[in-house]
Amino acid sequence: MAGKKKISIRKGASFSSRITLNPKLARRSFLKLSAATAALTGVSMTGRMTGTARAAKVKDPGKAYPGSKTVKTICSYCAVGCGIKAEVQNGVWVRQEVAQDHPVSRGGHCCKGASAIDMVTSEKRLTSPMKRVNGKWTKIGWDQAMGEISAKLTSIRDTDGPDALHLNGSAKVSTEMAYLQRKFAAFWGSNNVDHQARI
Ligand code: SF4
Repeated sequence: MAGKKKISIRKGASFSSRITLNPKLARRSFLKLSAATAALTGVSMTGRMTGTARAAKVKDPGKAYPGSKTVKTICSYCAVGCGIKAEVQNGVWVRQEVAQDHPVSRGGHCCKGASAIDMVTSEKRLTSPMKRVNGKWTKIGWDQAMGEISAKLTSIRDTDGPDALHLNGSAKVSTEMAYLQRKFAAFWGSNNVDHQARI
């Protein structure tokens, strides 16, 4: 096929394929872009999927939040689907417990599932896009972030083609986020999607 590279896989055999990484893309640029896309994915998804809500604090951690209810759900960080008992007050997820009666996890969680609620409540989570300016991470607005990143992505595609984009997933990306990330890559025209644990 015109424009495609021939890659030898063993003696006497070859196939026409998309290259995994564009050789024009330097490793440094690749890592910078990977970090940017992962950060953007995580921030945009967590920022857009969680709203501002208020829940009254509970003084005694051994007691239920006033007026709360327990909702049985599953952890969304991988396909195992471990059980979570979510305590919800006033529409806000305020606390989580393992689900002892869940047929798969039987009261167990890995570290990701055990900290699932942090995606919603942690004071350390990112709530806006960040840009490194003169070596210092600085909050920027969504319009600026989308404008700068889309311009950079378009420039890379114009120069090196859609395969030059690598989307790097994260262990703190839910299965739904990973699905959207993979969809974006497909529509963009890149087959380069992977998980940070494999780099
Ligand atoms: S707790 Fe861990 S193993 Fe269970 S579904 Fe969540 S990420 Fe997967």
